[in-house]
Amino acid sequence: MPNSTDFYIGGQWVAPHSSNDFEVINPATEEVCKTISLGGQADVDAAVAAARGAFETYAYSTKEERLALLRKILDVYKARGEDMAQAISTEMGAPIDMARSSQVGAGIWHISNFITALENFDFERPLGNHAPNDRILYEAVGVIGMITPWNWPMNQVTLKVIPALATGCTMILKPSEIAPLSGLVWAEILDEAGVPAGVFNLVNGDGPGVGTMMSGHPGIDAISFTGSTRAGIAISKNAADTLKHVHLELGGKGANIVFADADEKAVKRGALHCFNNTGQSCNAPTRMLVERSYYDAAVEIATATAEATTVGMPSESGRHIGPLVSATQFDKVQGLIAKGIEEGARLTAGGLGRPEGFNKGYFVRPTVFADVDNEMTIAREEIFGPVLSIIPFEDEAEALRIANDTAYGLTNYVQTQDGARRNRLARRLRSGMVEMNGQSRGAGSPFGGMKKSGNGREGGVWGLEDFCEVKAVSGWATDAG
Ligand code: NAD
Repeated sequence: MPNSTDFYIGGQWVAPHSSNDFEVINPATEEVCKTISLGGQADVDAAVAAARGAFETYAYSTKEERLALLRKILDVYKARGEDMAQAISTEMGAPIDMARSSQVGAGIWHISNFITALENFDFERPLGNHAPNDRILYEAVGVIGMITPWNWPMNQVTLKVIPALATGCTMILKPSEIAPLSGLVWAEILDEAGVPAGVFNLVNGDGPGVGTMMSGHPGIDAISFTGSTRAGIAISKNAADTLKHVHLELGGKGANIVFADADEKAVKRGALHCFNNTGQSCNAPTRMLVERSYYDAAVEIATATAEATTVGMPSESGRHIGPLVSATQFDKVQGLIAKGIEEGARLTAGGLGRPEGFNKGYFVRPTVFADVDNEMTIAREEIFGPVLSIIPFEDEAEALRIANDTAYGLTNYVQTQDGARRNRLARRLRSGMVEMNGQSRGAGSPFGGMKKSGNGREGGVWGLEDFCEVKAVSGWATDAG
């Protein structure tokens, strides 16, 4: 295990140029669990220099070499799965069983799917029969700066690092300073898998520091960011002077449209999805829109689901939910619950304060508000806690209007047995993803949003293309290999 205050630069663990210690808090105990260092300009410059140097050779590695590397990373990642689960559970409070299956599992899923996507990806393609000497070349975009959040640490890291490795890019990763332990394990995994020196670099730091230094750095060609809309806007502005590519995966306020003919598990499934990961998912279905004739029954089911959702210590085995990640998030969620009550929504489960039996840790109560109006703060703002807002609607047109009446556009959900209605809504909902009747999207499906949810697409072939420049060549010698 490296020293947790070190960074991984040029294939080695190195001490920061100047020490700037930062304590990582375990959200279940409110105690310090590790100390990291927040980097500065000299650390970022060193990482960029290492990545630029490595790009000269790694960009021209073969697809077969890169496929072999990804397969090796998958093997090492699986072998280190328990270390990774413990790190994630400690840093952001995911219950250990869920950390093993969903948090670590998301990484396995993405690495595997990118291997398949890369196997089928042509980096050199003909333009068409009309132009036999034209070629379209997909080339690595260059050095990528990656800035990730704390809520699904390995999901986000693998969605960025793996397609970058697959396309021949080199990179600097800055994980969230709130949950940086998994990033340290990840760097160890890449080191063990034999990623060439300088191809992957890790510098810890915060947004105003390393994050801002990266988005404005002239030696970085693209920023791939997942996090808040606020930070996405700041990054875009700071990146403008160097005209780098900026890929953004931001927040969400997903609608889950439940019609009276929905399957009998739809409401429970939607509420559980909202509470999963203690509500800290950008694609959480936080606004449940219910057809009036089914409304009272749905409120009852959602309320019972919240009451049956247990809250517990992350270190304990079981299907409970853990704490929120930080004191800041705890205060934010409490403030929004108070706002919901103040603005007149009907609280049917949960509410203010910690759940019974907890006097420390950032634990909150699974909460349901009924009779929510889409203009209320709890319907407009991303809460990022286990708080469900239920809104009645009269007909399909009204449901569609309410669903699209949001600044965000990440994932919307539809529950109905009427296939024609499902397809109509899928075409009209303004979001990057639409999930219907509880069917999860397949392997290689793109993840990303519209409007204030961002502009990038991660996963599958779209994740590879997002990290490529497209070069048009004429006069190509078709007989020269
Ligand atoms: P955040 O934006 O505060 O932080 C995310 C990352 O950005 C961290 O690494 C942080 O250090 C860095 N950062 C913050 N300000 C920065 C700046 N000005 N310049 C450069 N970097 C900066 O968000 P968070 O609190 O860590 O995460 C929660 C938010 O992320 C939620 O809004 C959530 O919806 C969103 N999110 C979106 C997705 C998605 O794929 N769409 C996935 C996960 C989380």
